[in-house]
Order: sequence, then structure tokens, then C-alpha cells
Amino acid sequence: MRLTATLLVLAALILAPAARPRAYTLQYTSTAATTQVHWPTTNITVALSTSLNSPPSYVHATGAQVVLAARRALSRWALASNIQFNVTTSAAQDAAADGVSLITIADTGTNRALFSTGVQPGRARVSFDGSGNITEADLAINPLVTRFDAFGNQVSSFFSTDGAQDSYDLESTFVHEIGHMLGLEHSGEVAASMQPRQGTNGTYNLPSFTTRTLSSDDVAGIRAVYGPRSGLGSIAGRVGYNSSTGVAAFGAHVFAEEVATGRLVAGNVVNAAGNYRIDSLPPGQYRVVVEPLDEPVAAAQIGSNGGGYPASTLSNQPPFVTTEAGTVTVGAEATAQLNVGVNGAVPAINPRFIGTGASFQLSTVAVPIVPGQSQTILVAGDNMNAAPVGTVTGVSISINSPYISVSNVQQLNGFGIPVISFDISPSILTPPGEYSVRAISSAGQVAYVAGGLTVDLPNGVPAGQNLSDNSQFFVAQHYRDFLSREPDQSGLDFWTNEIESCGRDAACRDVKRNNVSAAFFLSIEFQQTGYLVYRLYKAAYGNAAGTPVPVRFQQFFPDTQEIGRGVVVGVGNWQAQLEANKQAFALKFVQRPEFIARYPRTLSPTQFVDALNTNAGGVLDATERQNLIDELSANNTDAGRASVLRKVADDSNLVQQELNRAFVLMQYFGYMRRNPDDPPDADFSGYNFWLGKLNEFNGNYIAAEMVKAFITSIEYRQRFGP
Ligand SMILES: [Zn+2]
Repeated sequence: MRLTATLLVLAALILAPAARPRAYTLQYTSTAATTQVHWPTTNITVALSTSLNSPPSYVHATGAQVVLAARRALSRWALASNIQFNVTTSAAQDAAADGVSLITIADTGTNRALFSTGVQPGRARVSFDGSGNITEADLAINPLVTRFDAFGNQVSSFFSTDGAQDSYDLESTFVHEIGHMLGLEHSGEVAASMQPRQGTNGTYNLPSFTTRTLSSDDVAGIRAVYGPRSGLGSIAGRVGYNSSTGVAAFGAHVFAEEVATGRLVAGNVVNAAGNYRIDSLPPGQYRVVVEPLDEPVAAAQIGSNGGGYPASTLSNQPPFVTTEAGTVTVGAEATAQLNVGVNGAVPAINPRFIGTGASFQLSTVAVPIVPGQSQTILVAGDNMNAAPVGTVTGVSISINSPYISVSNVQQLNGFGIPVISFDISPSILTPPGEYSVRAISSAGQVAYVAGGLTVDLPNGVPAGQNLSDNSQFFVAQHYRDFLSREPDQSGLDFWTNEIESCGRDAACRDVKRNNVSAAFFLSIEFQQTGYLVYRLYKAAYGNAAGTPVPVRFQQFFPDTQEIGRGVVVGVGNWQAQLEANKQAFALKFVQRPEFIARYPRTLSPTQFVDALNTNAGGVLDATERQNLIDELSANNTDAGRASVLRKVADDSNLVQQELNRAFVLMQYFGYMRRNPDDPPDADFSGYNFWLGKLNEFNGNYIAAEMVKAFITSIEYRQRFGP
């Protein structure tokens, strides 16, 4: 469950009760924090109560909208991890221990009894056994939901799916509670879906849609429990008062910012023994910060009293000063150790709220920021007094990102709480993700609003604008969507210029945008990474059960990132790097439990090769087949199997046979960031339509008008603007 975020309207400032934050945190069975709570399987059956189809008065949406919100919320977690939900329907109305894991919005006595206050919009109840295995998890929303008004009074509220003023976004509530159903506690990161408070629509004069989307902290958390974690690394260590071996700094928030971009990637909360562990980090350099959870997220809000983070204990921990613990390098499949001693003292400064100058509002939920668009940000809290011009006595503000510059830092006086105002100018190339505000006192003491700013498109983009109409943004986003990396300068310039060379000729620009877009699928870099992953799955498993495609979105991107890591075609020794990545990946691929289950090591070389060939559609001719059998007979090891699998995957007939199918599938993966049968679709009819059309035009995507249809679709454009 989560509490309602405070909303302070500066024009009429009344200090309402405040709350606090944390990074991703796992549920444990007891205060010992040794046994983690999780589903024993990644195939989880969840029933949608029939109450979703006929919403009660406190849900202002149609049944179809509510069901879609629930399906999308489930889908977000599934897309981030190895989880698959088997969604059924149930006539049950109560979130009760009845053996059915239920999502309900019904107004029943049982559901009302789950809530002790109106300012808890939703609640998950999770049952688990002594081994931490979840046996049932239910989700209910609060039939008597309330919110705080600008004066801190509780007034009645409701749920909606359309951003209606003063309502709770139902999909955001679902996303948060489903995180609990899966075994996550609250996060100390302000922009996380798992942060302990939910804002109502209208905070910062915007719909509160940002927590519909998982932050990278949420993603790291769910992957820490269910995977995939292949190719990723960890940071772990101990945090103590005054020395890393000192008294455990229980409840401290440890978070890692990617040095290259400044994004807050993930964090964790120190347990009672003083230990923390941040898993699922892409390899790279990280700046590690340890902060007390003393607003905007509070330590006491991280966990329930039964688990590893009891609120009663955490609210009584001694204070300490935020510590920038240094930079660590994280490698794949490795854990970087970082032990930290924090200075046990009352912090001199403490930013407790964040807000926007445009709304003149402060709250404890993240502020959406938009690439290429300057705006005024507010932070407020204890001793947050900016230095008067010409002096160095006050607090200065910075953001640890090369993409975001800060200017015009000044004090706003007369509000009963110290408020600092500053302007930010995020580059049009600012990568999506969460960024922290860093405050530093004249004495050099630092404090953070961890993940207080979020580039979570399209939230915050003003009406009438769409970032994808900006050529530079459009191109950069293709690097992210298809190559899973930020653009290199020369590539960015080249493709941007392709479009911009049209000047104002709209027809020319449209044609170039289609071609530039398709160029990413057709690029050597994608063909050698993403398309190879597609063909490896095809050769290994054929099509996924019940689908016409061999690989699912949630498998595809982690694997593609692993093969592509450190590769920029044309730059440096990219071919050697790519080959090394492919070899390492193929070896790990054949060592995965699911591969070995399908292909026991006792199989003969002939059985192995024939099975792959069958999956691939019989693409090997007699000589190719015999050569692979001979190769494997001479070296029937994991490495030998990996080599044979790669050769089947790289067979020219397979490459040709799957090209159109992969092209269509990548329209969904790249542009829509989902599977073809994920919401709002329910099956593969869209995929089949486009495959039929592309085949009809012999793969000519221009004649088939396929790429054009996707990049001009409402679903694609709504990723980047209203
Ligand atoms: Zn919660």
C-alpha cells in the first residue's frame, strides 16, 4: 500500500503532514531479512474480479478501461522481467485468503476492512509460507478513498484512468500494488512506482501518470527477484555509523547513479545487519550515494512491520549525514564491493519537498521533465536557503548529469519553509530515466532528492508538441529503441541530417523519416545483434508456445543488450568486440537451465543438430547438416553446442526465411515496446496483418507502408507527447 503524497500550494502554504522515500527493497519473511518473499514460479496466475467490469461509484471509468488498466499494469512488470501472468476472471469480490490471487475493485466489507485510513488508495495482501514462497496475493482499492486538499484536510476522492483532477490514477495504483504482490517493498527513489506515496492527478498541474511506468529502480528490483540478470552486475557492501564496521546504518538508502548519463539506475535499503545489495546493474561506472531516508521518502514507510524493515524500528534510527561514497566499476556477472562509513550527526540541510515553479506546488512525488524544455524547479526543506547573490553562505544546487544544466538558483521567501528555486535546461538528448537534485551547503555538506526528476515521456510534454517531430530526438530514440544505446555523435549527425536536408519540404521529410527509421532495423548493428538473438531463439526453440514468434519482448532486449554491449559499428575494434560478445552469449545461452532441459547433454550430435534444424524450418541442406554433426562429434561440449547453434542461426536460408517475420515483430518491439499480443492488442491479428502485407510486397516496407504506419500511429506518437 502507499499513502497519499502531500501537496503544498505555495500561494497558500499550510504545512501538511509529510512523508519520506527509499530505493528498491525486497520483502522478507521476518526482521532477520534472510528469507526473501517471492513466487516459487515465474508463471503466476492472477484473476481479475468481475467487479472490474462494472466499476463502483468511486471508479470513474468504464469496465473496459478498468480491465485495460489492470492488464497494462500486469504487463509492465512482465515486460521488465521473466514473469508471465496467466490472467483469468473470477466472480470473487473480496481480497481474502481463498486460494485465488485476485485483483478487485469491489466495495465489500472485507475490502473496506483492509484500510485504516482513506489516504491509502490501494493495498496488496500477500500470503507466504516459511520458505518465503508466496501462496496467494490479492489487490484491493480503497472504497472510502480520500486525499489531502491544499490545506492538509482529508476530503473524499475517487479513481480514474483519464487523469481527472484530484483523482488517483487507477493504473498507477495497480502497478504499485502488483509490485507488492510480486514481493517488493517500498523504494526510496522518489520517481519509483514503488515509492511509498501516490500523488493525485493535478499535482504540479499534471496528470499523475509517471508512476504507471516502471523506473529503472523498479526494474532492477523485480529482476533481482525473478531475472533476467544475465550480463548484469551488482554493488554490495556494508554501511555503518562512522565506519563501515560500526553500528549498522539500518534504513539508509544506497543508490547508484550511472556516471555517463547521471541517471539514478537503482538503489537498495540497508538491512538490520548493515548490509545492502543492488543487483541488475548494466556494466559500467556508478557513483554511489548513501542518504538518510528523511523525506521526501521516510525510512518508516519502507516496509511493513512483519518483514525485514519494521517501521517502528526504522523511525527510531539515529541521524547521519548523506555520504557520496565514491565511484565503482561494475562488471557483468560480478559484484563490486563498497563498504561505507557514514557520519552520525544531524544533517545541516534536508530537502523534503520538490515542485515546479509553473505550478507553485511542492510535493513528495517526482517532477516530470521534458528533453529540450527548460523549466523552473523548486526544492524546499530544512535550512534550504540559497546563497544570496555575491555570497557563499547558502545552499547551491546541481544535477549530476552532463545533459542537464542548472541556472538562476535563488531563494523564494515568505512561505514558512525555506524554498529554493532554480532553472534546468535538459538537452533534447537527455535519456529517459530518473535524475537526482543535489544540494550542497557552504560547509560542503550534501543532500539529495534521489530520483526527484523523471524523464518519463510523454508525461509533462505540453499539448500540441510531440518530441518525435524533432529530428534529433527521433533519431536518438531509434538508437535507444533498436540498438539499446545512446547515439554516437557521428551517427546522430548523419541520420539527423538525412531528414533535415529536406528543409521544410514535408513530403520529403516524411519519406526520409520512414527510411531513416527502417535503416535501424536494416543496420549491420541491429542485424548482428537483435536479429541474431531472434534467430538463436528460433533455432533453439522454434516459436514460443501458442504464438507465431520465437522470442518475447522481455527476453529479447536483455539478450540484445548483452550481445551489443560496447559495440558501435564503425568505431574502434568493433568487430572483435562483437565476435567476443557473440561467443560469450552463445555459450551462456546453451548453458541456461531451459536450454539444457530441452537439450540434455546426453543427446547425440545427430539428435542435437536435427532438433535445431527442425526448429529452424529445415534450413540445412545435407552437407551443412553433416558438417555440423561432424563438428559436434569432434567437440561435444557446451562450446561445441554453442558454435553449432550459432551456425544454424546464421544459416543464410534462415536469415532469409525469417527476415519479414522479424521485421514485423521488431515494429512491435522497437516502436511499441511490447509484444504484438500485449494490451491494447489481445492477439496476433495485427502482427499477422502486417506480415501478410509485407509478404505481399516481397518485403518492400515502403510499398507495404509498414514502417510509415507504425511511426505515424497514435500508439507510437503517444510515447512522446500528448
Ligand atoms: Zn505500497
